[in-house]
Amino acid sequence: MIAVVHLLAGAVIGAYINSPPTIVALAFFSHYLLDLIPHIDPETFAEGHSLSTWTQRLSFVLDITAALVIAWLLLYTHQRWSFVILGSIAGLLPDVAMPLERYGWYKPFRDFHYLCHWNPNRARAWSWYIAGLTAPATIGLASLVIIWQTH
Ligand SMILES: [Zn+2]
Repeated sequence: MIAVVHLLAGAVIGAYINSPPTIVALAFFSHYLLDLIPHIDPETFAEGHSLSTWTQRLSFVLDITAALVIAWLLLYTHQRWSFVILGSIAGLLPDVAMPLERYGWYKPFRDFHYLCHWNPNRARAWSWYIAGLTAPATIGLASLVIIWQTH
């Protein structure tokens, strides 16, 4: 799933839950649930995890830039900014921690991440490609509406 959707879902959890440990746990596991949902991401048409074309690199940069801008807006405008940012960070954590996947002690987390992840090769078929566009857009917009209501 793209970073923006993970960030927004974590922010929604932070907007409603008052216990920081519960926010971290729920937002962290929301990541795996969101990865199960059909989605396209910058790596969808790449071999392995490499971003080999300029469109893949551009979409990655746009995703990260949008996530940073939204995080910045939440930080400076949301009344529960500390909870919202905590949820956002926890929601992104499994992807941010991907460089740790090369280490043996991290293997259970890596295996669980890949076990939960939707097979991005399915997006090469049109029906799954459309689902991979609409599902993240729907979840992201719904999360924005919910966050706006708690603003
Ligand atoms: Zn992930």
